[in-house]
Amino acid sequence: MLNARPAKIKLSFWGVRGSIPSSPDPSEYDAKLFNILKTCQLRNLKDDKSVKNFISNLPVEMKRFVGTNTSCVYLKLNGTHIILDAGSGIRRLGEMLMKHEFGKGEGEAHIFLTHTHWDHIMGFPFFAPAYKSGNSITIYGVHKGLEHRISNQQEDEYYPVSLSAMGAIIDFIQLRKEEAIDLNGIKITNQMLNHPGGSFGYRVDYRGKSIVYATDSEYKNIDDDRRQTYIEFFNGADVLIFDAQFTIDESIEKENWGHSTSIQGVDFAVKANVKHLLFFHHDPSYSDQKLENILQDAVTYKKTRYKNKKIKISLAREGLEIAL
Ligand SMILES: [Zn+2]
Ligand SMILES: [Zn+2]
Repeated sequence: MLNARPAKIKLSFWGVRGSIPSSPDPSEYDAKLFNILKTCQLRNLKDDKSVKNFISNLPVEMKRFVGTNTSCVYLKLNGTHIILDAGSGIRRLGEMLMKHEFGKGEGEAHIFLTHTHWDHIMGFPFFAPAYKSGNSITIYGVHKGLEHRISNQQEDEYYPVSLSAMGAIIDFIQLRKEEAIDLNGIKITNQMLNHPGGSFGYRVDYRGKSIVYATDSEYKNIDDDRRQTYIEFFNGADVLIFDAQFTIDESIEKENWGHSTSIQGVDFAVKANVKHLLFFHHDPSYSDQKLENILQDAVTYKKTRYKNKKIKISLAREGLEIAL
């Protein structure tokens, strides 16, 4: 029977920050440690096993940081490897992939780039599978001169290994605006977002499930037609990964910087009947506490403004995995 194989989709986040990788301020480490120690005071942690259990049962926001690396999202769809952006998060993703077929030079990865601002490509020179002969890496993008843009950051003024010396077979596929392609039965379409120099969101549809990756976009000064285009692009998505870099105050201050807010994300997600909205491209200067507050404000906004709408809202966190 055709399509009898059930869809097996795994989505995971390897880089969730915008602009530049950013490690937490030392006071944030202290605050996390303080809260953990306070929580464990009343527990009887008498041996290693009870300590490990205690740690594994802590809520994720208490024990982990939201994330330090820039944009990189990984999708595994029944054996096809799709990577959305090659920010600094792709380095650790590459290490994980090397433990499987990529380590034997038998892997095939498809990297879709939204655009080539540095935070979205800076990790590629550190992507281990690209160094292993036998692997095949295909890089897709809509911007003209894609190969030059990627190879340029590996010129010897910037990096010691050129793109052509990396070992794997690296190909480039130039996509047309709004072109729909078929990759092993997976439909991938793009849509131009509103960002300086242009950024392209991707929608991945596979056996009734859909994931939309729409990062680096501002929605303030767009007309109704454009707004409607985005609503259609996001429509019915199981997961919408949405640029929510700024608070509302900051989005006013930083108009035309090409980023948006969590509140705009909620409005779009409601109009487009999205099931799970994830805020992404967190500002490098925002602490975890500030990001948790942004999330809570968005949840409250959804509850008061759209009482009867059911929609899951989360922060994209490094290490988060979603099975679809
Ligand atoms: Zn960016
Ligand atoms: Zn950008």
